[in-house]
Amino acid sequence: MTVPGTARFVVVGAGVHGLSVAVHLAEALGSGDDVVVLDKQRVGAGASGISGGIVRNFYRSPATNEIVSRSVEIFELDPALFGFRQVGYVAVVPEAQADELEVIAAQHVDVGYPSTLVRGEEAVTEHMRMLFPDWRAIGSTALLHEQRSGWADARTTVEALAGMARSAGVRIVEGAEVTGVGDGAVESSEGDIRCEAVVLAPGPWARELWAIAGLPASLVVAGQERRPFHYWQVREGEYEHAGAALDPRAPVVHLDADVPVSEHLPDHWGIYFRPGLGRGVAAGGLPLALPDDCELDPYGPSHPVLGATTAEFDDAITTALAWALGRFDGPRERWASSSGASQTCFTPDSYPIVGWLRDGVYGVLDSNHGFKMLALGKLAAVELLGGKAAELSAFRLDRFAQAALHPVSASPYPWT
Ligand SMILES: Cc1cc2nc3c(=O)[nH]c(=O)nc-3n(C[C@H](O)[C@H](O)[C@H](O)COP(=O)(O)OP(=O)(O)OC[C@H]3O[C@@H](n4cnc5c(N)ncnc54)[C@H](O)[C@@H]3O)c2cc1C
Repeated sequence: MTVPGTARFVVVGAGVHGLSVAVHLAEALGSGDDVVVLDKQRVGAGASGISGGIVRNFYRSPATNEIVSRSVEIFELDPALFGFRQVGYVAVVPEAQADELEVIAAQHVDVGYPSTLVRGEEAVTEHMRMLFPDWRAIGSTALLHEQRSGWADARTTVEALAGMARSAGVRIVEGAEVTGVGDGAVESSEGDIRCEAVVLAPGPWARELWAIAGLPASLVVAGQERRPFHYWQVREGEYEHAGAALDPRAPVVHLDADVPVSEHLPDHWGIYFRPGLGRGVAAGGLPLALPDDCELDPYGPSHPVLGATTAEFDDAITTALAWALGRFDGPRERWASSSGASQTCFTPDSYPIVGWLRDGVYGVLDSNHGFKMLALGKLAAVELLGGKAAELSAFRLDRFAQAALHPVSASPYPWT
């Protein structure tokens, strides 16, 4: 497909956020004829194509609870189309995080998101054994079970969004790299487009697009000068045990603990796991900080250094899995592992930036919560067409200067 000379809206990035904006713009306009999506590679080439797709509302940020709730409504419109398994999500935590779970449970009540809070080690074990009869983790004194959450097969979600966009008339141009974002125009490797507005949805490449759009090299964040984006390496894999598996209908589990289980786990650690697409367990965690100027290409597991995991990582994950579930007992050799790592981009408080960044330039700048925040694209479409979405007020760029940051969680994940 070629790049047209003009379009009302040009979206940069064909990941979940860019495609969600395009689908919802097309829906609101009655047609996607005036919407173009440009991707320097192809649909789902970035984080969206390799994501774990977990949809959870385990967030300390109330504004995020509202967005996740709305995102789940989108998945619920057609779970099969989006590859969404509404199997539930259980966060199991140690005492140091128990009060926080209570706060999150109250936030769920405020946004009408059903969840069950359980406190006390005995009651937690009993609840987990209802779900997994061989549950045997110790030291967990609270859990929060979200009934409407689950996980999506990432590629299916991305293909569904791209299909919806295309059938509404949106032009998705693959292999078109955006090199300039000027006043009322976008420059790309395949030609320039005059437009009313450009929407930046570049996922981990936010650092690059931010510079291309001429936005400031640093931000004042609660009185301190900081770079707008920082990076973590997230690590995930598919782990197949020779003698046991998870039921495909099992809920997603997020297990945080402060019990020493393996020399390769920190004092306060967290892993998450769910049934894989095959027989294995999809599991991940233990993120590592990357330099702010880390390489982004090649992206994800194709990067020779930043895309690789270690034997220690696989060992930590499988040891933690066996510590939690008796079915996975036995020597390390019983596991076949296939894991990889990816560069992931975060804003200063680890929540997305959404809104007008300057005249004619709107951002849906991810902070690694893409699938569970699919509704950002729907709300962004409202604003691109001249409306105001109150739900986005906590995600504006000016929150950093105003020191109105999202709350920080006590979990081992800085972005929860
Ligand atoms: C391993 C891993 C596991 C994850 N697990 C989960 C999870 O369980 N649940 C969850 O909700 N989230 C998860 N995430 C996060 C989630 O995948 C991301 O938040 C989401 O995919 C970001 O979507 P996006 O559309 O912003 O960016 P992307 O999907 O990265 O899309 C950005 C696109 O922009 C294109 N692009 C970049 N620069 C240019 C340019 N100059 N010109 C044109 N196009 C350009 C890229 O080619 C890319 O296709 C995970 C991420 C990773 C990496």
